[in-house]
Amino acid sequence: MPRVRVLLLNAALGPLDYRGDAEPGSVVVVPLGPRQEMGVAWEAERLPANEIDEARLRPLLQVLDSPPLPAPLRRLIEWTSDYYLAPLGAVLRMALPSTSALGGARIVTEYRPTGLVPDRMTPQREQALERIVGRQGLVGELAAAAGVSDAVVRGLVKTGAIEAVEVSTDHPYPRPDPDFHVPVLEAAQAEAAEALRASVRERAFQPFLLDGVTGSGKTEVYFEAIAEALRQGRQTLVLLPEIALTEPFLQRFTGRFGCEPVAWHSGLRQSQRRRAWRAIAEGEARVVVGARSALFLPYPNLGLIAVDEAHETSFKQEDGVHYHARDVAVMRAKLEEVPVILASATPAIESRHQVTLGVYKELKLPERFGGAEMPAIEPLNLVSDPPPRGRWLAPRLVEELQGNLEAGEQSLLFLNRRGYAPLTLCRHCGHRFQCPNCTAWMVEHRFTARLACHHCGHVMPVPRMCPECHEEESLVACGPGVERIADEVAALFPEARTAVVTSDTIWSPAKAAEFVARMESGEVDIVIGTQLVTKGYHFPNLTLVGVIDADLGLSGGDLRAAERTFQQIRQVSGRAGRGEKPGRVFIQSHDPDAPVIDALVRGDVEGFYEAETDARREAAMPPFGRLAAIIVSSEKEADAKEAAARIGRAAPSVDNMIVLGPAPAALAMLRGRHRLRLLVHASRSIPLQDILRDWLGGVEWPKSVRVAVDVDPYSFL
Ligand SMILES: [Zn+2]
Ligand SMILES: [Zn+2]
Repeated sequence: MPRVRVLLLNAALGPLDYRGDAEPGSVVVVPLGPRQEMGVAWEAERLPANEIDEARLRPLLQVLDSPPLPAPLRRLIEWTSDYYLAPLGAVLRMALPSTSALGGARIVTEYRPTGLVPDRMTPQREQALERIVGRQGLVGELAAAAGVSDAVVRGLVKTGAIEAVEVSTDHPYPRPDPDFHVPVLEAAQAEAAEALRASVRERAFQPFLLDGVTGSGKTEVYFEAIAEALRQGRQTLVLLPEIALTEPFLQRFTGRFGCEPVAWHSGLRQSQRRRAWRAIAEGEARVVVGARSALFLPYPNLGLIAVDEAHETSFKQEDGVHYHARDVAVMRAKLEEVPVILASATPAIESRHQVTLGVYKELKLPERFGGAEMPAIEPLNLVSDPPPRGRWLAPRLVEELQGNLEAGEQSLLFLNRRGYAPLTLCRHCGHRFQCPNCTAWMVEHRFTARLACHHCGHVMPVPRMCPECHEEESLVACGPGVERIADEVAALFPEARTAVVTSDTIWSPAKAAEFVARMESGEVDIVIGTQLVTKGYHFPNLTLVGVIDADLGLSGGDLRAAERTFQQIRQVSGRAGRGEKPGRVFIQSHDPDAPVIDALVRGDVEGFYEAETDARREAAMPPFGRLAAIIVSSEKEADAKEAAARIGRAAPSVDNMIVLGPAPAALAMLRGRHRLRLLVHASRSIPLQDILRDWLGGVEWPKSVRVAVDVDPYSFL
């Protein structure tokens, strides 16, 4: 009797056997107790399961008619589960994120401009029609893209300027045309592009590190690799670190290939998600651009993977399966036997190390495109030349902003801190507002008049009186966030038009599009933003960048603090002077002689990397050694402590491996759970995952306790 092994979309269960027949990779429905569950048929020899008696096997209920998960993806799922110590079912779920994608098509009503001009034109209508040229979507989506209310769009529908269209959720995507607009490349670009094209034609695994200063035209170069994959009839996956970056990418892509690629991100509505998944699984979606979750989708015909801004730490997933999308992308390319391009102006030390080892090929673009110069960087000493009390912009920076305003050029102020102030306290009794669920201060947000915890999302209105001493109007904000800088700018330059760019204001591609449109049409003089504005954008009239607090990132003290600060400030500096006008960058710091700031000012990239790499090598830190974190948490403090101590006691004694902790985590409480951490530091020569599996497999803990393993951790909270 035929039997089939099935991996369920259920992290708590291992593989199970059923009676029936299905090719490996097929999506199936099976009974589980009284319920029905979805799963994927798997090669029995690759997944051990409890052997069940023939007689007790239950039958498969259904083999779905959706495309099967290809073999290389099944191998990737196995590898990811094994490397990151994650349940197979949890990894599988990332490949089948939407079970609705497996059902039949539906009809939805979308809207698009007709080109008719309404009889009565208002400024809002004009703005809307200008910004939705070539777009199609729901009323709310068009309204968001246009920066107007839904009512304005509905009004335009009544006038006939916008029409309704019935579309099947599965209507096909347009095909990008590799010859739509072939750009003229500069010599270094052309050489790099040719190396990439040759690799795409060769159809073999090869990682490339495309290392080029900001504004050197990396995107144009890897677009030529995409063009080659298109000519070969194969699919390309482009990973971006943030969905907010999708918009500028889509614009450039459309300019090169004549239509948008298929986007995959958390902002898709269900019908769009379904349509994209089907098109990807059927090989119809030729180019897919997405956040890290796009990595596990079932491309049957992948020819190329590109990871843009590959140094970004947001590629590391910090909950659920703790994987690093850059590293998994390289593994997927290996399993698919295709090239993978890691593009960055500030590559991670890990990636540079792979070049040294000869595993990655390096392609360098040392010059800015079109002869634009890298901006001049100047430190501003906050000790010798501080801003006035209660202000955050040094006198020199204020002068420069004034000058830039008068010249009609745009400026950017960078501070990687959302909200108005990171800490609120009572000036009468000293009470500090802490999150009830986390070891974290409540951050004041003036736009929404609330205090918010950035770790768990807990919010409360700003109280009028202190909850401790009941004094009224006694609360003071300590330290700056971007909203407070915006206030200072408004007070200094009341005539300046500003935009605050953070994940609070730019939470969707449509919001990003609105911001880009405002910048490009010159409606903004000064942008105040978090790391969200440090990359991807290209605004030729932006000539001045001010870094409000260069010391901020260095205070955390984790192993990548200096590297991250260097990358972030170099990236944000790269926003200045991308057009014909030269750019200037001012870095405010209390310690301008710190090696990182000094390297930034001197533009000494190689010197900085060398010193950092040496320090890592000496301490046997990644990429020279390995780390894994074990995070033990529970709502019951005693349980967490007891379980962590038990895990600590059970630590095996292995040569070239030390175990630190357990100790309370920096975030000792998070979302109401008490947390302890153990940190494992090992040499690369030992099989760390096997050791961890054996170790944790031999320890028991109560149900209230959660134990998460973070292999190659990036967060040390
Ligand atoms: Zn008080
Ligand atoms: Zn919290």
